[in-house]
This record gives sequence, C-alpha cells and structure tokens, in this order.
Amino acid sequence: MKQSLAINGGTPVRTAPFTKGKRFAGNELKYLQEVLEQNTLFYWFGEKVKAMTAKFKNTYGTEYCMAASSGTAAIHTALGAIGLTAGDEVITSPITDMGTVIGILYQNAIPVFADLDPLSYNLDPACVEKNITEKTKAILVVHLAGNAADMDPIMEIAKKYNLYVIEDCAQSYMCYYKGRLAGTIGDIGCFSLNDFKQISAGDGGMVVTNNKTLYENCFKFADKNYNRLANDMASMRKVEYLAPNYRMTELQGAVGLAQLEKLEAVCARRNEFGDKLSAALAQLPGFYPQKVYEGGKSSYWFYMFRMDKNETGFSTDDFVKMLNAEGVPCMKGYIPACVYEYDMFLKQTAYQNTHCPFNCQYYNRKIEYKHGICPNAEKILESSVRINFDEFFTDADLNDMIAAVTKISTCFRE
Ligand SMILES: *Cc1c(COP(=O)(O)O)cnc(C)c1O
Repeated sequence: MKQSLAINGGTPVRTAPFTKGKRFAGNELKYLQEVLEQNTLFYWFGEKVKAMTAKFKNTYGTEYCMAASSGTAAIHTALGAIGLTAGDEVITSPITDMGTVIGILYQNAIPVFADLDPLSYNLDPACVEKNITEKTKAILVVHLAGNAADMDPIMEIAKKYNLYVIEDCAQSYMCYYKGRLAGTIGDIGCFSLNDFKQISAGDGGMVVTNNKTLYENCFKFADKNYNRLANDMASMRKVEYLAPNYRMTELQGAVGLAQLEKLEAVCARRNEFGDKLSAALAQLPGFYPQKVYEGGKSSYWFYMFRMDKNETGFSTDDFVKMLNAEGVPCMKGYIPACVYEYDMFLKQTAYQNTHCPFNCQYYNRKIEYKHGICPNAEKILESSVRINFDEFFTDADLNDMIAAVTKISTCFRE
C-alpha cells in the first residue's frame, strides 16, 4: 500500500533521534593523565606520540610513520619532503577539503585539477595523464569519503612520467584497494585526526611511507627542518630550507593513541553499515551508490551516492527535502562547488596583493581555473546526496534509513 510522504503530511518513518555514543570513553583519560605525569608535552621527550606512531605503523604495515599537527600539516609535510617548490605543478582532485591544496600553495606550487570518475568520485587516471606537463612533480590522490581511488593505473602513470604519488587518506582510514591499504600504495600516505574524521585527537595528522629518505625529510619538515633524528646540536645549523612547526603534542598523542585502539572496530562497523546501505539503494531505480573497486573496502567517512532524476522521478533537491522530512538528516552534495571555483582560484589570489604563485617568474605556464574544467566533478556535486552515520548507529537506525529512502522511491513509482 502506498504510504503518504511526510513532506505531504504523512507519518515520518523516523521520529526518534539516531543513536549517539561516547567517542572518548576508552583509554583517553588514562593516557592524558600519564602524559601530564611525564612532566613534558613535547613529542621528542614524551612517550605517547612515539607509541601512537609505532601503533599506526604496525596497523598499516609500513616501514615508517610520523605524526603532525593536522591532516593539512601531514599533506604539506609530504609535499615538503618530496622537495616541492616554486613553479612545480601537483595534479589533484577538485572534490576535496582545502587541506589538500593548502600545502601545494604554501610551497608556491600550482594545483592542477583533474576530472573524476563519475561512479567512484575519485581521480580518473586518463584525466590525470592528460594534465601532465614538464612542470608536474606529483599526483596528490584523494580517497573520497572512505573509498579508494583506482590506484593501479595512477601508479603506472606516475612510473611512466617519474612522478611522486601522495595519498590523501584524511577521509579514508582502513580503506582497501585490491586488498592493499590506501596510504601504503603511493610514496607517502597522509591522514587526519580532526574532530570529524573516523578517529579524533581534536586535531592531528599521520604520515606513513616505506621510503627512509622521505621519512627523514618528513620528520624534519614538520619540525622547522631541524634534524632531530641526527641528534646533535651542530646539525641545526644545517637548516637549509624553510619549514613550519607542525609538531603533534603529547596531549594529542594521548587521545590519538586511545583512538587508534578503536580504529579497526570503528571502520569495520562503518564498512558494514555503508555496504548494507549501498546494497539496498542499488535495488532502487535511479540510485547509484559510490563505486568500490573490486577487492576494495570503504570505511564510509560519510555516505555519498548519486541519483539520476530521469529514473527516480524527482530532483536531488526535492529528494533531500523529502528524506529530511522522513526524519533522516541528509544534504545535497558535499562541498558547495569544485575547489577551483573558490574565489582564491577564480581570482588567483592565494596571497594578498599578488597573483603568486599562479603568475610568477618561476612559472612559465598559464593556468586557468573556471567553471567547466572538470565536468564530471561538477555533475557529481549536483546529483549526489550525503548521509552521515557513525559507528554508534544501530541496525534499527540503518533499517529506518533504508525504509525512508525506499518509501520515497516507491511513492514515485506507483
Ligand atoms: C579533513 C581533510 C583534510 C585536512 O585535514 P585537517 O586535519 O582538517 O587539516 C585534507 N584532505 C581531506 C580530503 C580531508 O577530508
């Protein structure tokens, strides 16, 4: 029997709020107490940042891991470590957080946005290759919403053109591509512990790599380019290049370590939840869940899917209104527009009163940022819906979400 939609005065599928839980109820307090008792909150003297990087390295199975103050800092650190400098280009995704591109610009390099695969919302390898120039130094791959990009062809392209690959895994902990963890496939993997990610230390970042030189460069870059690993005062004078202070404190290390203890369980639950939601949505005409490549696994930082209004019978905007009315909070798209449509890019004003690095003596090309440069990415933002969930949601919560979407879809088919 056809149910009447809540937006038309019918009974909403869901009236109770979705289940909440305490995120910091593990060893966080105990470890915080321990770092205060250390009498130092400095990572180099304390134990918690060291324990955290050791644990992360173990989880990821990489040779090296170091900590930074944020995900943005982790990415900037990776870019500094590969020697990114004025006039270089970095190819990246137009649907991402500003944290992906901030480090590129601080190195006075140029972000070049390549279009996305319409089903996975991650970089389309063919579009990456089309954007390579003699200035390209690296590909900065974003694994969007917990789900891996198509890494094999990207790695092949990088090899062919001798480029670095940096993975932005800020949204994608415990995310697999063909059985391998995202973050361990390219040269350097970067993670975020900001408060909205699968795990939080308030703010924080992690960097993993199997390359000793890159690790040492990262370690230095995140700490004013001081060579603390060399462990002698004289080497401080050898600071040759500018680098920021992106150190993680022991307070972050304490909370971060406790959060890491839950990482695999949190991501496993999100994976289970998201895969079930995808299986249900795939049954409905015009609903297209985010594509997970074969052998892959998403940890669904948020749940994003696309709709085709010709098949569903309603627009994305109307669907968002209808689903919210049914008691399932959701929103259209992810970011308000592709990153290249932000003022800083349209006006090419990364720094005040200058057009550096876009218009710069070290950059002999002319870059253009405008609507239309990545049509697939623009269409993804227009036709997608985002639903948030976390590891505390129950199976009943999930069933209500599925019931609400199914109710709306069914109403337009009868
Ligand atoms: C969150 C995020 C960042 C930045 O991380 P912060 O810890 O907030 O600095 C970078 N890239 C992506 C894709 C992100 O989602």
